[in-house]
Amino acid sequence: MDITNCQHPNHDSQRIKYVCVDPQCSIPKKIGCADCFLDDHISHVRKTTTQFKDFVNESIQQINAVEFQQVTNSPQQDLEKEMDGELDNCIECIKSKFNSIKGDLKGQIDNDMIKLQDNCAQFQQNMNNELEPFKSTIKNDLHVLNQTELNSLVKFYQEASKIHKHYNKAAEQIQEEKQKIKLKKQKYLAKMRSIMQILLKDFNELMTSKNVQFDDSGDSETPQKQIMSPNKMINLVETARSSRRFPMSQIQKKQLLTAVTKKLE
Ligand SMILES: [Zn+2]
Ligand SMILES: [Zn+2]
Repeated sequence: MDITNCQHPNHDSQRIKYVCVDPQCSIPKKIGCADCFLDDHISHVRKTTTQFKDFVNESIQQINAVEFQQVTNSPQQDLEKEMDGELDNCIECIKSKFNSIKGDLKGQIDNDMIKLQDNCAQFQQNMNNELEPFKSTIKNDLHVLNQTELNSLVKFYQEASKIHKHYNKAAEQIQEEKQKIKLKKQKYLAKMRSIMQILLKDFNELMTSKNVQFDDSGDSETPQKQIMSPNKMINLVETARSSRRFPMSQIQKKQLLTAVTKKLE
C-alpha cells in the first residue's frame, strides 16, 4: 500500500494531493485527495502538498534569517568599533597632554643650559683675555721687557691670588647653577609622576564606582538590580513567544531560568 494514495474506500486510491490551509476549517483531517476535498473541504483554501511544503520551508528560512540579523550581528560590532574609537581618542588626549608637559620642561631646561653655557664661555673668554699678555711677556728675559710690560707683570704678581680666587669662584658658581638645573629637572619629573599617580588614582576610583560597573556578581547587589536580570530576560522571551501562541511550559521556564542564571554568574 502506497501512503501517498488515498485510503478512502470510495476514492479509487487517488493521489494525496492537497492540504487545507483555510483558517475557518474545522475538519481535523487536513490532507487528502481530490475527492476528499470535494467531500470535506469544498470551498476551503487549499494548497498542493508541494506548494505547502515549499511555503513552510521558505518561511522557516526567512524567519531564521530575520532573527540571526537582529540578534547576533550588528549591535556587538558597532559597540566594539565605538569603544575602540573612544579608547583611541582618550589615549591620544592623555598622550598629547603629557607630551606638552614634556615639551615645556625640555624647553625650560634647554634654555637654562644655553644660558649657563654662555656664562661659561664668557668666563673662559675673560680669563684668556686677561692671561694672554702675561703668557707671552713672561717667556722673555725680564730685562728686555719695556717698563709698561714689566709693571703689568709686577701688578699680576701682586694680584695673582686674587685673580685665581675670582675665577675659582666663577667656576663654582657655574657648578652650582648646573646643580640647580638638575634639581629643577627632578622637581618637574616628580610633578609629572604625581600627575600620573593622581590620574591613576581617580581612574581606579571610577572603576570601582557604580557608574562603570556593568555586571559584577561578586558584590552585594541582588540580581534584580542588574541591567538584565534573569527574570527580566525570561519575561522578554515569554512575551515574544506568547505573541506567537507558543507559551513556555513550567519545566521549560525553569530550564531557561537555570541556564540564564548560570550565564550571568
Ligand atoms: Zn480521498
Ligand atoms: Zn478544510
